[in-house]
This record gives sequence, structure tokens and C-alpha cells, in this order.
Amino acid sequence: MRELLIISGKGGTGKTTITAGLASTGPAKVIADCDVDAADLHLIAQPHIIQTNHFYSGQRAVTEPSLCTECGLCREKCRFNAIDEHYAIRPEHCEGCGLCAFVCPAGAIRMTDRLCGAWYQSDTRFGPMVHAALGIGEENSGKLVTTVRTASADAARTADVDVVLTDGPPGIGCPVIASLTNTTLALLVTEPSRSAMHDLTRALELTRHFRVPAAVLLNKADMHPGLADEVRQWCADTAIPIVAEFEWNTAFTKAQLAGQSLAEFAPEQWKGRFEHLWEALLTRM
Ligand code: SF4
Ligand code: SF4
Repeated sequence: MRELLIISGKGGTGKTTITAGLASTGPAKVIADCDVDAADLHLIAQPHIIQTNHFYSGQRAVTEPSLCTECGLCREKCRFNAIDEHYAIRPEHCEGCGLCAFVCPAGAIRMTDRLCGAWYQSDTRFGPMVHAALGIGEENSGKLVTTVRTASADAARTADVDVVLTDGPPGIGCPVIASLTNTTLALLVTEPSRSAMHDLTRALELTRHFRVPAAVLLNKADMHPGLADEVRQWCADTAIPIVAEFEWNTAFTKAQLAGQSLAEFAPEQWKGRFEHLWEALLTRM
């Protein structure tokens, strides 16, 4: 099985637009949306959810008021101000350390698994899709990313397809690392701007650290010709191939508003370009 991960470091470079264009062209595939903190690929893929699965991570304290003697010990010991004056837990403050349950002399507090979000197995017009939503303020998106990747690999085996296309998270933190490990190829989507170039450098360092082959797509290449030349030179100096260059186009926004990929919205202009992009990527996978 081959996994193609699309990442960018900086947000706003067009990563999800590129992912959607690849989703609607190329070989049969399973799509994985690992941007679990701010998923948006579903706005274009419009998945039909077949199965919803709860995502649990860590623990959270729960009190049993009928057992509480109001001794106040739990409130005194909690360092996170997560227990109110009525000895009820403030779930948004609870870090799940378990100290309150440990010190409670009445056994009035127990720890329960923390529901942090959900992940979904869906059908789309592009093929099976696995995606997720992390609850507001919840943590451990890396674990949820790993869950999505495992489920998408299972879905690929079930569908008997060889390719998983993954929309990766922004940045270079834990969720990106969880997306990157053992993937076949990382496509780094960048644009000619200082912040994107800075993040491209960091994203490439990450791929090299994990020994994942990488390639670059220079998006909005005509936005700043001077900086675009700097990106090309940097790629040549660091021996990283540029597999495609796309110019800025109003079709990017229009396609999103229409809920379509670029290849669907303007097939004469874009379908062939994404098919060529797939050819370049598959030869490297
Ligand atoms: S589990 Fe820890 S953080 Fe949560 S209420 Fe108890 S002492 Fe506070
Ligand atoms: S430590 Fe236990 S008994 Fe004491 S106030 Fe907290 S919940 Fe109630």
C-alpha cells in the first residue's frame, strides 16, 4: 500500500485545494483527512457518513454527589481549579490527573474515559473516506490522526485499492509527525512568500528526520516572481524535486464555493494538470 501525504507547514497555501484536486483524479484511492483540528476537506468531498466512532483519550473526573460529605479536600488539592464550590467537576478545566479521586475519603469521585471527538467512515464520489472531528479545546490530536490513518489503511484493504491520499495537518507538531511516520511520499505545498518558505524549510527537515521522501508543489507561483525564483533555487540546492507549479487562479475560490475540486469545476484547465501531477507522484511512490 502506498500513502501520499499532503502537508504545507504554513496554512493557506492551498493544501486542501490540491488534495481535493488529487482526490478527484488519478488512481482508485482511499482519502484520509488528518487535519483533525480544523478539518475542511469534507466541504468539497461531501462525505456520506456510514459509521460514526467515538474517540476517547485520557480521563476526566466525575463526582457522585450522594456520596460527597463536602469535606472540601478535592477542591483544596486540585491545582487546575477544576472543582467548583458545589464540588462539581468543571470538565473543561479537568486535566485528568486523578488526584481528587485519590484523596477523596468518601470514594465520591471516579475517573472515566474522556470523550474527545469522533471519527467517521464515509463514502464520497472520489472513493471511501476516513475523517474526524476533535472536540473544541480537546487535546491529543496526534492519537486521533493515528486512528484515522489506521482506519484508512483498513479501508484501503477492504476496498482492494493500493493508494491512500492524506490531507495532513498544518504546522510541524505532533499531528504532522503522526501523519508523516512511515508514509510513502510527502508532497509539500508551498507558495512564494517568506512565511511559507520558512515553514517549507521546517517541513522538509521533518520529512528528512523521518526519512520520508518529499517533493514540492509551488502553488500561486506567479504571486511573487522573485520569491518564486528563491523557492526554485532552494529546491535545487536541497535536491528536492518540484513536481508541479500552479499559478494563482480565481477558480480556486470559485471551485470551493461550488463544493467542487478544481478538476471538477474547470476540467479543461485543471483535470489534465492533476493527472500529470499524479503521474509525477506515482513514479516517486
Ligand atoms: S482529575 Fe485532577 S484536574 Fe481533574 S478535577 Fe481531579 S484533581 Fe482536578
Ligand atoms: S473530597 Fe470527596 S467527599 Fe470531600 S468534597 Fe471532594 S468529593 Fe466530596
